Amino acid sequence: MGEPKPPEPAGEERVAIESEHLAAIVRSSDDAILSKDRDATITSWNEAAERLYGYTAKEAVGNSVAILIPPERRGEELEIVRRILAGERVEHYETVRVRKDGTRIAVSLTASPILGADGAIAGVSTQARDVSSSREAQHRLRGAFEGAPIGIAVFSVEPGSFGALHQVNAEMTRLLGYSEEELAAVSPGELTHPDDAERERVLIEELSSGARSSYGIEKRNRHKDGRWIWVWLTVSLLDTEGPPRSAVAHMFDISERKAAESELELARANLERSNAELDQFAYVASHDLKEPLILLSAYARMLSERHRDALDEEGRTFLGHVRDEAGRMKAMIDDLLDYSRLQTRAEEAQVVELSHVLELALKTLAPRIDETQGRVDVEGPLPAVQGSPAQFERLFRNLISNALKFRGEEAPLVTVSAEHGNGEWIVSVCDNGIGIDPAKAGRIFEVFQRLHGQEEYAGTGMGLAICKRIVDRHRGRIWVEPAPEGGSAFRFALPE
Ligand code: ADP
Repeated sequence: MGEPKPPEPAGEERVAIESEHLAAIVRSSDDAILSKDRDATITSWNEAAERLYGYTAKEAVGNSVAILIPPERRGEELEIVRRILAGERVEHYETVRVRKDGTRIAVSLTASPILGADGAIAGVSTQARDVSSSREAQHRLRGAFEGAPIGIAVFSVEPGSFGALHQVNAEMTRLLGYSEEELAAVSPGELTHPDDAERERVLIEELSSGARSSYGIEKRNRHKDGRWIWVWLTVSLLDTEGPPRSAVAHMFDISERKAAESELELARANLERSNAELDQFAYVASHDLKEPLILLSAYARMLSERHRDALDEEGRTFLGHVRDEAGRMKAMIDDLLDYSRLQTRAEEAQVVELSHVLELALKTLAPRIDETQGRVDVEGPLPAVQGSPAQFERLFRNLISNALKFRGEEAPLVTVSAEHGNGEWIVSVCDNGIGIDPAKAGRIFEVFQRLHGQEEYAGTGMGLAICKRIVDRHRGRIWVEPAPEGGSAFRFALPE
């Protein structure tokens, strides 16, 4: 025989134990639980209720629940009681209650009937949960949504269509010119410019198939008044799991930027066209001028060779001038042709070792350097840059030949060096020559501009204009300043 089983508690005792268990659960609940009788008098009050409402159990029990209800919500309480008496449950009913200190609090209520011994409803038990923080968070989010300075819309994602708008903020209604109600009745596709629709349709297709989770696009949207407005639109899916169902769109008005861009583009295209026309003009003019010039020179030569004796001394001098000037004009035309070809014959950019092209330039200039007893020193390494080797060689040739030409009393000493800084290389060609008046320094880079007469120093006035064009074409700058030890320092900056 086994141990005798402990006796089962008798009926009344069992009820007492169960009620004690229930009471313990109610006491320790995090939700405020109170009960009230049919007259709305509070009959029980747990610790969480004390924390939530500020009344102790002693203060609350025996009082009417009216102490918790804001005056404007009295009707609401009657309605809850009516529903409970009708046998309904009231769950997660969001409302506002008043604390002992008078402050209000957002709560979610669940109410259920308390049955008396006779089975009839004897009262109501109410469970309340503080939802003020989530309400506040929602309120803040709503404020951020409504007050955002960019248009925001939540819309449904439907395969094969632009979806339907669900919720839009104030800025979105301002951007499109339609009220929220009007927008609910239009499809976003109807507001999209036909030229942008196909591009966006593909993106939406990818969004609804799950191939992408967001996209950004510059597009035109139709305002209610019929204008097309350029906007920057980003669309991101809101669903993180399952098939894509809804998305949020952010829209930003970029019409001003677009207008400025197209104006700039127009100005750039105009500039490019007039530059090209000018180059073409310079090319054609100089090319066509060359022919009569060659004839002019030929006749002048024949005149001086065959009819020299028919001319007196003055006539021979004048003829000499004609030949000199024709020669000078030919040099100018050749330089002008070179200048216009710099633009029209743009070659592919390649890596240019400046030390290498400098060497080539010095080879060509060697006889001039010898003749002037000059010296060209290269100080430190020179960089490699992107561009045209022939043009950089020309650049060095022009600068160094000027340094030799515009020499002072002493033998010419030219120094070439480079330094690096601020994302660019600055290359300097310094001389010990006659120097340049800084007030006139800006002019010398213009076409045919010279600071000296032909009798002092021969030249066409094109050398530095060609240098400037070469540097410009390589997105650089060129300028001149007095060299530290007298003479001129020509410097050009090139992007790295
Ligand atoms: P050109 O040498 O044929 O006169 P450039 O365009 O090369 O034409 O130069 C324009 C003018 O700038 C020159 O006539 C001269 O007055 C001045 N210049 C150029 N290089 C120097 C230099 N190294 N030193 C002093 N003056 C110079």
